[in-house]
Amino acid sequence: MNLDQSQSSNLNISTSTSGKSSLNRRKFIYSIAASSAALYLSGCEKNPNTPLEVRNIIPPRLDTAYLGQEILCYRPLRKGSPNMSFQIIGDQIIGHNYGHGGSGWTLAPGCSKYVIGLVEGQKVKVIDKNAPVTVIGGGILGLFTAYELINRGYTKVTIVAAAYDNLTSHNAGGLIAPVSMSNDPQLQPLIDQIGIDAYKFYEQISKGQQADFKKGAVIVPTYFENREDSGLEPYVGKVMQPAKDVMLDFGNGTQRRMVSYDDGIFVDTAIMMKSLRDYLAPKVTFVTQKLDRLSEITTPLVFNCTGLGAFSLNNDAEVAPVQGHLIMLKDQVPANLQYMLLVYFNKAITTAGQEVKRSLYVFPKQLLNTPVNDIGVLGGTFIENATPNTPNLEEFKIMVDNAKKFYGI
Ligand SMILES: Cc1cc2nc3c(=O)[nH]c(=O)nc-3n(C[C@H](O)[C@H](O)[C@H](O)COP(=O)(O)OP(=O)(O)OC[C@H]3O[C@@H](n4cnc5c(N)ncnc54)[C@H](O)[C@@H]3O)c2cc1C
Repeated sequence: MNLDQSQSSNLNISTSTSGKSSLNRRKFIYSIAASSAALYLSGCEKNPNTPLEVRNIIPPRLDTAYLGQEILCYRPLRKGSPNMSFQIIGDQIIGHNYGHGGSGWTLAPGCSKYVIGLVEGQKVKVIDKNAPVTVIGGGILGLFTAYELINRGYTKVTIVAAAYDNLTSHNAGGLIAPVSMSNDPQLQPLIDQIGIDAYKFYEQISKGQQADFKKGAVIVPTYFENREDSGLEPYVGKVMQPAKDVMLDFGNGTQRRMVSYDDGIFVDTAIMMKSLRDYLAPKVTFVTQKLDRLSEITTPLVFNCTGLGAFSLNNDAEVAPVQGHLIMLKDQVPANLQYMLLVYFNKAITTAGQEVKRSLYVFPKQLLNTPVNDIGVLGGTFIENATPNTPNLEEFKIMVDNAKKFYGI
């Protein structure tokens, strides 16, 4: 497929008219690529004679035989911002740490520190680190909150959760970038700072310098269509290098102009969840229990890390599910998947009548105890307020079709 063909097939990806500007932007980018046989930067760059770096990428295998498990899961999105706050109710302090949307992994180590810091910084109650503390929730927010408590010397930490396995936290893609959130712009600087703290934590793991975790995070080139889509610009100059303009060449006549953050971080979510559980197992008590009310927990200090559960448990009407579709890839060549890629398409409407923001993302994710060649995850969708009653299953096929078009397969 040549560039002109891929351009027109990409234009068919979305059907709504609402994303006209991004459609035009994409068309503009591809027409630059097509007309620029020598692969030079466009006139908006500082030096139009600087050659654009070409990177050869062998596309993943996307025929049916190479598609593994289809996964449907739900991001806990809280409109306005995640709830990172505390309340004092009678003798209890309740810290809240939920609602991180599509960025729970990106933020978890940083916001667990932040919320515990808020609680410790309050001047109303004395905190006794030897008194019982309960963390509600066994997802990434609950586990990192417990991890931070242990690091700060709390001696009686119990995690209470309705479930510990096959959570959204296990199924998440693993891109470290603050995307798919709904933040009040005034809070964005705080979210960025929390993300930068979290980046530092994962970077230590990727370099083998983190005291407790030696694997689970790696640095890989991370490709977006533009800098804005990445959400990573606030990290540049603080913990990340500036993105580069590059041309991806898929070796089949299709090229895509992208930006690359060469110090992007991928977290293998299922592996990291297990590492955290294993680390915490001898240090905290795990209880499996579904709560109907926060008041069922009577310890002086409580952390509410219940994700979507906070809708009813904390009567928080701002919490909403954002459905996501993922497909695990199998029988791939691992060396061909050592990168991350995220491209957004225009909004469309599912057959259930729900607004879907479609994207293509490809990350080198693996599930636990799977063969080494079963690597790669293909995503994904963002469908706000979709529930298991509206699984929008046709999205799995649309996703594969869009991926094939993108790679020129
Ligand atoms: C398709 C998809 C892809 C994603 N990709 C990424 C990514 O690439 N990068 C990124 O940063 N983030 C990503 N995310 C987002 C990330 O997965 C979530 O933000 C994160 O997992 C939320 O973690 P959590 O601990 O809040 O929730 P969960 O993992 O859902 O855990 C909630 C916990 O609370 C417990 N609980 C809830 N209610 C109760 C109750 N009443 N009583 C007792 N226990 C209760 C549950 O049992 C569970 O243990 C993705 C999400 C999806 C769906």
